[in-house]
Amino acid sequence: MKLRETLEAQEFEPYIHITRGPGDGGHWARQYAHRFDLVLISGGDGTICEVINGLSGTDKPIAIFPSGTENLFAREMGVLPDCDQLIQTLKWGRRVVMDMGQVNHRKFLLLSGVGFDAHVLLELNKFRTGNITHLTYFWPIWRTLWEYRFPPMTVEADGEIIVENARGLMFVSNISRYAVGLRICEQARYDDGLLDICFYHCTHQFRLVKHAWNTVMRTHCRDSMVTYRQAKKIRVTSTEPIPFETDGDPVGNLPAEFSVIPQAVRVILPP
Ligand SMILES: [Mg+2]
Repeated sequence: MKLRETLEAQEFEPYIHITRGPGDGGHWARQYAHRFDLVLISGGDGTICEVINGLSGTDKPIAIFPSGTENLFAREMGVLPDCDQLIQTLKWGRRVVMDMGQVNHRKFLLLSGVGFDAHVLLELNKFRTGNITHLTYFWPIWRTLWEYRFPPMTVEADGEIIVENARGLMFVSNISRYAVGLRICEQARYDDGLLDICFYHCTHQFRLVKHAWNTVMRTHCRDSMVTYRQAKKIRVTSTEPIPFETDGDPVGNLPAEFSVIPQAVRVILPP
């Protein structure tokens, strides 16, 4: 195990817990993290989010060593899967305090998607076996693209209705990055005490493809078919059962009440 050898060579005294499945990382963090100075999380975004949820309510700092498919959190923070950088981080790293989001009493670290992308994840989970790659998403996205009907929703941001009974899909984010390098909530900062909202007005597949292209080109925020806002509290409702996800896990259907939890997580980043 290279990570253990690297840490021991630098006179750290690591205790290594290997997670056994979903839920185990969060359980371990809740039970045992208080015994250590720092929790170093080696994994993908799912593992990181789970451990951070387990640590919530404590002031235990975390560091990360990315080893997942997307590593959105690590990319946003400039963390590489590199042992030399890790040692520099542990010895001389910058300490930052970042916000978390909350939706219907569930906390999230990165982002939440309402509608289309939650539907893709539900499709994916129907036949998922073990670890996923980008290719695993192809059929779920393809099926959702042709089946999804973009049911209407209403979005209220800090008490103001910004989208009223309109068809589309939306994202609420704490970070600027989304999967495959897209920057959907491109103005989002993880420490500004606000959540960023990006609502794509959309009634059919071809409009969605255009939105995707504009997002790749990073011109989507100037498009009149996009509503972009920042808020502390967001309420999303619909008369139809629209699914939503947080940090890559489908969690239920609307209604959803989002809020920001300022300065919730302590993270040590590369110097
Ligand atoms: Mg923010």
